[in-house]
Amino acid sequence: MLATAVFLAGSILPVQPTAAQAPPSRVAASKASPASAKPKLVVLLVVDQMRGDYVDKFLPQWTGGLKRLVDEGAWFRDAAYPYAATETCVGHSTISSGAFPATHGMVANAWWDRKEQKMVTCTSDPDPNMKNVGYAGATPKGADTAWRMAVPSFAEELKFQTSGATRVITFSLKARAAISMAGHKADAATWFDGGAWVTSTPYGTLPFLDDPAKSHPAKADFGKTWSLSLPESAYWYGEKTPGAVAPDGWDLTFPHALRGKSSASEPDGTFYEQWASSPYADTALTDLAEKAVDELKLGHSTGTDFLAVSYSPVDYVGHEFGPRSREIQDILVRLDKDLGNLFTHLDEKVGRGNYVVALSADHGVVPVPEDMQKTGVDAGVLHVPEVQEHIEKALESFNYAKPVIARITGSDVYFAPGVYEKLQHDHAAMQAVLDAVLVQPGVAAVYRAEEVAGRPATQSPTLRAFALSYFPGRSGDLFILPKPYWLMDGTPAGKTRSYGTGHGVPYNYDQHVPVLLMGFGIQPGQYFQPITPADIVPTFAVLCGVTLSTREGHVLAEALKKPSESRAASRPGRQKSAAPATAPSSTP
Ligand SMILES: [Zn+2]
Repeated sequence: MLATAVFLAGSILPVQPTAAQAPPSRVAASKASPASAKPKLVVLLVVDQMRGDYVDKFLPQWTGGLKRLVDEGAWFRDAAYPYAATETCVGHSTISSGAFPATHGMVANAWWDRKEQKMVTCTSDPDPNMKNVGYAGATPKGADTAWRMAVPSFAEELKFQTSGATRVITFSLKARAAISMAGHKADAATWFDGGAWVTSTPYGTLPFLDDPAKSHPAKADFGKTWSLSLPESAYWYGEKTPGAVAPDGWDLTFPHALRGKSSASEPDGTFYEQWASSPYADTALTDLAEKAVDELKLGHSTGTDFLAVSYSPVDYVGHEFGPRSREIQDILVRLDKDLGNLFTHLDEKVGRGNYVVALSADHGVVPVPEDMQKTGVDAGVLHVPEVQEHIEKALESFNYAKPVIARITGSDVYFAPGVYEKLQHDHAAMQAVLDAVLVQPGVAAVYRAEEVAGRPATQSPTLRAFALSYFPGRSGDLFILPKPYWLMDGTPAGKTRSYGTGHGVPYNYDQHVPVLLMGFGIQPGQYFQPITPADIVPTFAVLCGVTLSTREGHVLAEALKKPSESRAASRPGRQKSAAPATAPSSTP
């Protein structure tokens, strides 16, 4: 029984009742008052860098969990982020809080801290009392927490609005995903660093992860080879995508051996990078989620438990090989199998229909520019260091002390202290700066902070996108919008790009992501109205009877079973129909 004890911020929480201890009155209770029934477990799945169109393209090749989400769930086919900064920390924070970056404040994976005059990551915590903690003897560096997230997550609200009877457990390879899905505190938020699972001070620990074999899952995959799982004719794209960059130790052709730098005899840093770019890491995350369900008996407490997994490998693979690659297609085929196993596990341990699951992505990706050029579309690389040179040169004839620019990161241009304030009153110099940005090949537009601050009413979707991304103090002074299919690249002049492609701009290939809901309370079908991933947790909140502090997202009402249907479903004679329908709905 004590094995189910969990820790929160160093203190031991009361042991949650196990299945055997829980009052056996659920069925009777739901018979009497079906409206009060709540899901036993909320499952949030985020695929890092999954474009919405992957579902349209590859669905016929899936047989597992991704297919089940489409067949038995609610598929929102026009889901997209409305903001500009389509990056991992931003997307996960938006999904988890139901708010946009202008509100939740996680404006990028990393930004320029004007006070500290240095780059900071969205989770880096300067508080000396905070530190990262490794499992099974690992000694991670730094301190990562959600202190910069300006609103509570849905998981936090769920926990404190239900008297703490909720366990909040998240997993990812990335700190910024595991942390932002959990929120400021959680029973466990676990990510991968330096070959081992780690967490940090505000989060509890998972005792089963102190088993070295479980804490160092990658080691068991050393020496394995990632090969195509379907016949070669099933793949949409050829090998060797132009402009793609394979991880160290791999080339652009299958199979990919997980052997580190050059047939190393044991795991090295290169091996861990290969592992993170392989389907084996997705399987390890799935195993961990299943283990947590078993060890903590998730779905059997007096409250609604929360389990979230962010599958990071698709993002690494997409950056390297691009979205038009066999690697992306194959890793999704394998993720589909992992998710199928996870849902089967949840059916057995929590009960089919007792849990609700949402799957989405934090952002999409642009095709590798050199690959895109082959198609005849205007595509290319927007060299950011050259933009910086143009601005510096433009200001030479005006009276500005060098250096004028502190940093350009993503779309955001940060001027040195005092420079932008001066430019705002110096129209000729400001115009020279804007003109200097616009001469760079691949630039479509440039916006000033004062144009987007305060979310002005506008008919322009791009201006609105930058406004929804704008958080005073953290966002830049100017924002560069590339032309469609132009990759913004910060590689210094004379150096070769170390990755294939990226994301982070307000075009649909970065903004359009899947949103699929399945299980408790969900009405299966395909839905075509435009929604955003910020609508996921407001929908969870309604199902769980909690209130979110912000209301930028909307309840996906059309995908909820109507009260009359729920009542019908819970009548004793109709028990079976309480489970999700097994046939796909043909009605849009
Ligand atoms: Zn990425």
